[in-house]
Amino acid sequence: MICDNITAAAGRLRFAGRDAGELARQYGTPLYLMDEGRLRQNCRVYRESMSAHFSRALPLYASKALSCRRVYEIVAEEGLGADVVSAGEIAMTKSAGFPMEKVFFHGSAKTDEEIAYAMDSGVGVFILDNPEELRAVERLAGERGLRQRVLLRLTPGIDPHTFEAVATGKVDSKFGQSIETGQAMAFTLSALDAPHIDLRGFHAHVGSQVFDSAVFYDTAGIMLRFMADVRAQTGYEAEMLNLGGGYGVRYVESDPHVDIAAEIASVAARVRSLCGELGLSEPMVLMEPGRSIVADAGMTLYTVQAVKTIPGYRRYVSIDGGMTDNPRYALYRSAYTVLAAEHMGEESDGVYTVAGRCCESGDMVQEEVALPPLKRGDILAVCTTGAYNHSMASCYNAVPRPPIVMIDGERDYVAVRRETAEDLLRREM
Ligand SMILES: *Cc1c(COP(=O)(O)O)cnc(C)c1O
Repeated sequence: MICDNITAAAGRLRFAGRDAGELARQYGTPLYLMDEGRLRQNCRVYRESMSAHFSRALPLYASKALSCRRVYEIVAEEGLGADVVSAGEIAMTKSAGFPMEKVFFHGSAKTDEEIAYAMDSGVGVFILDNPEELRAVERLAGERGLRQRVLLRLTPGIDPHTFEAVATGKVDSKFGQSIETGQAMAFTLSALDAPHIDLRGFHAHVGSQVFDSAVFYDTAGIMLRFMADVRAQTGYEAEMLNLGGGYGVRYVESDPHVDIAAEIASVAARVRSLCGELGLSEPMVLMEPGRSIVADAGMTLYTVQAVKTIPGYRRYVSIDGGMTDNPRYALYRSAYTVLAAEHMGEESDGVYTVAGRCCESGDMVQEEVALPPLKRGDILAVCTTGAYNHSMASCYNAVPRPPIVMIDGERDYVAVRRETAEDLLRREM
């Protein structure tokens, strides 16, 4: 199986040690399951290996991957910080009792209202994206008589060889200021000049679903060289280097397995030797994993509603969810492993297109999936859905969003309840 929390026995799928079909019937479908043990273990791999290999380090959970109160609570218990990108995510961290000094505020279009709210909420560090935002933070911090700690987001000019839509470190990016064009240096000089800005260091995030630490070596090299240039030009030595997120996860058998602890050890060795070469003292290193914290802790269950064969064309299996709870196939053609939860090990009778319920031809969860013969009422499981599923869900077609049920050993509990028609009507005047 693609992850060791997925097993099968006597034809039945088990997730986090629990019978998937039984959970589907207990809670209804569509249903997001989260394996709490796996989520905690993923956090620990980052925390333990980063603190073992860097002199000073902090992993930040990039919470856009899955933002809900219970996940923030667990991540805080595991000692990670968190990245947020909106007032909504800040409100969730507050409501989870998250230590606000470990919250890092991202985004390339923060509004004045969000900046003020973040400051008044005690958000620890702003990751500034552009000069307009720097001026707004300077002004709003001045009004409050505080010096806001910040990192500057830079684009190191790296193409991480991943899919275009998730590549963010190239010069031509909507995020951050480019080192190559000189805009990063100008941005740094403005930050150093601003009395209410407390510049702590620099940030770069190059891509997602990265299987190769070479991207992090290159990022670290470019960023540390930039830090050495800044020191030569201004005397300022940055104390924090944020290398971004992006280690990949296995969605399908053909995806490689990333040994994150070993990769972090190798990145730390590279950072140390580069600092030696450049005569820099080793900065505190931050990394921002999102997907690799939550993806393989998640699974989605659906109920088959119809199976249609178009002779000479293809076979569709229609499910009671789709792009509303998982838009990633429609957006990126993302690969997923789909399993028949109560027919494990049965021989496939051919390939199916797993189609969602929305009035949209592009609403599919996966194509060309080998599955056993299916009928209405069968349970389908889509694996590795913990990241960018619930957080990207919509209520298109007024389809309510599924609940998140956490599995913690023998215990299961609802972290986010199923949305209802009343919830959808609540905003109407
Ligand atoms: C999305 C994002 C991440 C997390 O990326 P993953 O691929 O989920 O690990 C980290 N940092 C920034 C700035 C991001 O935008």
